[in-house]
Amino acid sequence: MLDFEARPEVITRTSWNAPIIWEGIFDPKLYDQKHIRNGSSVALTVFAVGRYLDAYLKTFLTSAEQHFMLGLPVTYYVFTDLPEKVPKIELAPQRNLKVIKVEKHTRWQDISMMRMRTISEAIESEIRHCCRYVFCFDVDQEFKGRFGSEALGDSVALLHAHFYKLPKERFTYDRNPKSKAFMESGDFYYHAAIFGGLWENVMNLTDTCYWSIMEDKLNKVEALWHDESHLNKYFWLQKPSRLLSPEYCWDQSIGDTVDIHVTRLIWAPKHYDTLRTQ
Ligand code: UDP
Ligand code: MN
Repeated sequence: MLDFEARPEVITRTSWNAPIIWEGIFDPKLYDQKHIRNGSSVALTVFAVGRYLDAYLKTFLTSAEQHFMLGLPVTYYVFTDLPEKVPKIELAPQRNLKVIKVEKHTRWQDISMMRMRTISEAIESEIRHCCRYVFCFDVDQEFKGRFGSEALGDSVALLHAHFYKLPKERFTYDRNPKSKAFMESGDFYYHAAIFGGLWENVMNLTDTCYWSIMEDKLNKVEALWHDESHLNKYFWLQKPSRLLSPEYCWDQSIGDTVDIHVTRLIWAPKHYDTLRTQ
């Protein structure tokens, strides 16, 4: 179903033969038909804890209603410490939203890392009963174009917009041998703002990353880029079956856009100084 030659200027397949999804290599209609026929359903998890709720959640959800997996049943799982402040969004048919209350960790690093545990628990208790696929997103982003069923796969990773063109030596993996996230070499640098797959695989990923994070805590180390470092280690050992190009998560401050034929999702402005707790 993919035309790997359609984008000769970029890599469209990994060394282990997983496709890298770029605009032009797929026919959206064929993927939508296939997934509707197979009865595919999708859970989207997103965390909006503390000040991130007011800053980003409404734009994230309203734009997802315009662009994310249209035509398939979608359940949003919003994790927040402020359930009463979740904006009321009008949802299209076959789309639902559940709010789950979570505690607010003091350090932003823990808010980010502990998502792994919460996602795993939610898959175990709820998601696996309603949804075949799970996609996990950062909230500080906005959908701008189709983010559709071509992105679904058994185990899905995203190429980081700032690294996809850089040589491997410049990837910012965790280099501390004391951390479980330590790696000397890898395939790509993946961005933790989006990952997904069949619920079984996302559960395995989130469990593995969570246990590695906890082991680091016992050993009093923290990986360089927190959950992202553990995610990169996981995908080095358990190769993803499908990769998303940076068209699926683009930073508009990057000047070189020749490879980006469509922006499906963009980074929202970051205001770490006012939004992060510590
Ligand atoms: N997050 C949150 N509240 C916080 C910090 C983080 O809800 O105080 C969640 C939110 O979903 C955010 C994600 O954790 O998108 C990752 O944090 P952030 O986006 O700041 O990381 P970065 O994009 O800089 O890697
Ligand atoms: Mn983010």
